[in-house]
Amino acid sequence: MRILVTGAAGFIGYHLSTRLLDQGDQVVGLDDLSTGSPANAEDLTRHERFTFVQHDLTRPLPDSLGSFDRIYNLACPASPADFTRRSLDIMAVCSQGLWQTLDLARRCRARLLHASTSEVYGDPLEHPQRESYFGNVNPVGPRACYDEGKRFAEALCTHYAQRHGLTVRLARIFNTYGPRMRADDGRALPTFITQALAGRPLTIHGDGSQTRSFCYVDDMVEGLIRLCESDLEGPVNLGNPDEVSILQVAREIIELTGSTSTLTHLPAPAEDPRIRCPDITRAREQLGWQPRIDRREGLRRTIEWFRRSG
Ligand code: NAD
Repeated sequence: MRILVTGAAGFIGYHLSTRLLDQGDQVVGLDDLSTGSPANAEDLTRHERFTFVQHDLTRPLPDSLGSFDRIYNLACPASPADFTRRSLDIMAVCSQGLWQTLDLARRCRARLLHASTSEVYGDPLEHPQRESYFGNVNPVGPRACYDEGKRFAEALCTHYAQRHGLTVRLARIFNTYGPRMRADDGRALPTFITQALAGRPLTIHGDGSQTRSFCYVDDMVEGLIRLCESDLEGPVNLGNPDEVSILQVAREIIELTGSTSTLTHLPAPAEDPRIRCPDITRAREQLGWQPRIDRREGLRRTIEWFRRSG
């Protein structure tokens, strides 16, 4: 198949593109390199079935892109560090960028998978989060550009698909980690790993009792491909339901790196979710998908990558 991956130079986009190339597909990666890595684009470009197009998705798309069988729409700055400095870019790519990508899918009659997020649940009042939960989001809060941008994107996908008879799949991605995350992207795991490897104190925001559930990137890629090829309509949670406190994961990273680092506490960011855990019954029953790589193994692989590339 000929497949477009937007955001291919980013963390998940790189791994997804690699997997699609490994299974024999032809992949065009479109990325403006705003938060993605030129090294990811270069490494993918070594593959003869990969073409890289540096382009901002919110600008008119080049005609030379050609036609596609599948489109994976991953382009969007995704780290909390970007919620301030790139707030309007996030809202533009979730609206104009997605709209253009849907138009392209319609012209090609391609199936489109959109990367949504667990952030649509906000600071959840229901736990674990099922797809039927509408969420608890402040539309004018500090995270609104991302949370509401992604909620608008889900609504746009849904209405566009109904209006134009397009096949759209919605993946609600929960925290994903693995090699090639950016060390400075403000997310907990790469921050802790780089701090532990440097022997610096690990910075815990708040008291560390807030929970997250971390899915290894290879498992996520498998889930995205299965969902795209499935007949499942509506949003589907993809994530690892193994819930852990931030404090516990920090301690695990100190142990697995063999670091002498200590822990230090910083104020919690405004409206940081207290709990986060996916209910993946839908993906498990309808896609036959569930994470295979446990956290310690995933952390070992990720730490090894940071050690080699650091
Ligand atoms: P990332 O920042 O590593 O990748 C996003 C990519 O999109 C980057 O390469 C960036 O340069 C590109 N991009 C951003 N704006 C663009 C634009 N206007 N035009 C073209 N390219 C643009 O982030 P990621 O962690 O790989 O996330 C990929 C997708 O998955 C995002 O849509 C994100 O919201 C979603 N997601 C990720 C996670 C996670 O834990 N990593 C969780 C939930 C949802």
